[in-house]
Amino acid sequence: MAQERVAYVNGKIVPESQAVVSIRDRGFLQGDAVFDTTRTFGHRIFRLDEHLDRFFLSLKYMRIDPGLSKQEFARLTMEVLEANLPLINDDDDYWVSQRVSRGVMVDGEYKPTVVIECAPLPFDVRAKYYRDGLPVVVPSVRRTPPEAQSPRAKVHNYVNLVQAELEAKAHNPDAWPILLDTNGNLAEGPGSNIFVVRNGELLTPKEQYVLSGISRRVTIEIAQELGIAVHEADIDLYDAYTADEAFVTSTSFCICPVSSVNGSDIGDGSVPGPVTERLTKAYSGMVGIDVEAQYLARLER
Ligand code: PMP
Repeated sequence: MAQERVAYVNGKIVPESQAVVSIRDRGFLQGDAVFDTTRTFGHRIFRLDEHLDRFFLSLKYMRIDPGLSKQEFARLTMEVLEANLPLINDDDDYWVSQRVSRGVMVDGEYKPTVVIECAPLPFDVRAKYYRDGLPVVVPSVRRTPPEAQSPRAKVHNYVNLVQAELEAKAHNPDAWPILLDTNGNLAEGPGSNIFVVRNGELLTPKEQYVLSGISRRVTIEIAQELGIAVHEADIDLYDAYTADEAFVTSTSFCICPVSSVNGSDIGDGSVPGPVTERLTKAYSGMVGIDVEAQYLARLER
């Protein structure tokens, strides 16, 4: 059994230690690259087609031709995943990512760099957030507005979100940043969308200002099935501070409750609230894994 994970790089599946890209790569030099990330649940990949659809929209936005079809990405993704699955325990799962940069100039033209890779999900470090909730901090840095660079595309340039994270974590190392958009409404965090619950209904920022998270879409689908109304809305800090419940969604978290915003408790600060709990249970049913239990089990080790 191989002991090192493998990755696909430009036509070959190689051990990760040999998976390298050029110092002249535009992804490295300028963040000029696109990616997407799904995950496994119980070692089964989740909504790969939907992630690849979003990936190809991001590529189109960035005017990068990856030189491979969606079907080829799907096949190669499964090949890389299957080679890596024997390396994790039954109760672990992977993030599974496709990445394409504009690449390196060869004979006057850019030749794209294509990478497909797996990374173990960080269950241990994030488990406490399912017990305690996420302490959200809203940093002064605003999310890049659509006029500057569309937040709907999933590109390698995360500097705006990184600045936000540095600022939030300087206040509290456990803080989870959620940025405002340039209009002063909640937008998103580095890797997560946000929802608030008010009077039994869900509010989430408008899609123009955030990444259309697949977990955000799953949550909206589930809410509709459960008869919970969902509104895309401008949500300001008043809405956040006075919300009955709040939670973030992401590929890794699925749904994770928020306990406070800028030190102000959501409700009485206990988590999860009843709507968040109902949605999380339904999410778990859909993916075939008890999402919350998978995280909480790590606290007992
Ligand atoms: N916003 C940003 C900026 C992200 O990077 C992510 C993670 N892909 C999300 C939201 C959540 O999206 P998803 O549910 O597809 O993981």
